[in-house]
Amino acid sequence: MNIATNPASPSEAYSSARLLIDGVWQENGDRKTQPVVNPATEKPIGTVPHATAEDLDRALEAAQRAFPLWRATSPRERGRILKRAAHLMHERQEEIARIATLEMGKPIAEARLETHFASEEMEWFAEEGRRTYGRIIPGRLGETRFQVVKEPVGPTAGFSAWNFPVGNAARKMGSVLAAGCTMIYKPGEEAPAAAAAVAQCLIDAGVPAGVIAVVYGVPDFISRHLLASPVIRKISFTGSVAVGQHLIRLASEGLKRTTMELGGHAPVLIFDDADQAAALEMSVQRKYRNSGQVCVSPTRFFIQAKSYEAFCAGFADKASKLKVGDGLDAASNMGPLVHARRRDAIEALVQDATSKGAKLLAGGHRVNNEGFFYAPTVLADVPDDARIMSEEPFGPVAVLNRFSDFDDAITKANKLPYGLAAYGFSNSHKTIAKLSDQLEAGMVGINSFNISMPETPFGGVKYSGHGSEVGIEGVEAYMVTKTVSIT
Ligand code: NAD
Repeated sequence: MNIATNPASPSEAYSSARLLIDGVWQENGDRKTQPVVNPATEKPIGTVPHATAEDLDRALEAAQRAFPLWRATSPRERGRILKRAAHLMHERQEEIARIATLEMGKPIAEARLETHFASEEMEWFAEEGRRTYGRIIPGRLGETRFQVVKEPVGPTAGFSAWNFPVGNAARKMGSVLAAGCTMIYKPGEEAPAAAAAVAQCLIDAGVPAGVIAVVYGVPDFISRHLLASPVIRKISFTGSVAVGQHLIRLASEGLKRTTMELGGHAPVLIFDDADQAAALEMSVQRKYRNSGQVCVSPTRFFIQAKSYEAFCAGFADKASKLKVGDGLDAASNMGPLVHARRRDAIEALVQDATSKGAKLLAGGHRVNNEGFFYAPTVLADVPDDARIMSEEPFGPVAVLNRFSDFDDAITKANKLPYGLAAYGFSNSHKTIAKLSDQLEAGMVGINSFNISMPETPFGGVKYSGHGSEVGIEGVEAYMVTKTVSIT
């Protein structure tokens, strides 16, 4: 494996995050702060403040006050503002991407792509917000008519993980603003400034004070405080299953609506009749994107018996040639994990699997003395009782096993309680039709890992959550339905 190094001094370009409340970036004052650490160097690059109860109350009050004004702003005008924000994100792509890489480690090329895609989503929301139509239904008596109208649900709270700090922020705030709602948004404390940069684009584009707030701190304290308030009518969360379940419990106290984008453990079924070279190339590229810290990351690969050995050899060869290094170095194919905990978790999962008989074909070790790097890893013949067969690794580990026929493959794929993404590779129409029908997932990719566009709903089933972001459904998620009978 090659190791790329970063020649630049990364800490120079970073400004510490601040809270955004009622349209004003707050001075930190005597608030508690925690360091933001560059995972490629393990060095602090700045700080992130902790919101107090008083900060959260002010954000709630502002979100409530701003709601009727934003709701009354025409969808066309809201769309214009969001479109301006999309343009600003596009213009500031380099600066935003650099912040994301500094904070959470992904290669700069991936951060640029994330920012580009996020600005496209913002543009989609700008347009789709104009199409929140209702309908008219003729009544049964004389002149009575029924109007079905869609209305914004009210002030909302959004909580996201750090893995797509730009994309998650744009997705949550863009959909909410398109629907006419306000949002208090809490990004992951690991990557606070990237999310703040998205908020800055919205403010510079003309989003009024109070419509969005950005807060950080102790996650459980913040979510409990916001969810206990009657002001918040809906929450949207992107993160792990355990935290999602916890938030649903809190939300149920106030009967608040929820959208839950939770974890996954995506299966990939590769049939003998598939284009093996293409499947291999795409699989390696997607597995190690963002160091595997992607909720739709392909993880459990099942390969049909005749193709198995060659696929394993090819996977290991390609994985071991990837350059691991600082994301700011354009030569790096893969950056570090976000923090030491993630790296230690991956290490433990790999050790558990090999101790139970899995073959280690590539990686399986740390890289560098500094930075939370872990080598692109390939495990084969992994027994069912290895933890990695059922626990989401969220890291750079591919798990390869064989299957005999379609029934065997689909049973293995659907075995886990997760249902976010699933993939299949085959050139048989019959197999493709059966995969499309029978894979239990919110998103299915056939002969491709491209399962998400601004126009398509993104979300899972089973333990991977409920509701969708993006697509028509992404705006609809922040609206309630009212029926009006007029005689
Ligand atoms: P996590 O659930 O611990 O944290 C995710 C985010 O939630 C973080 O920003 C964290 O600060 C916040 N959080 C944690 N506890 C909270 C609480 N009580 N209230 C409010 N917010 C809280 O998960 P993690 O280990 O940091 O991230 C990885 C997990 O997130 C994986 O399981 C992954 O699959 C999942 N994830 C899912 C998606 C998706 O779209 N489905 C996207 C990204 C990450």
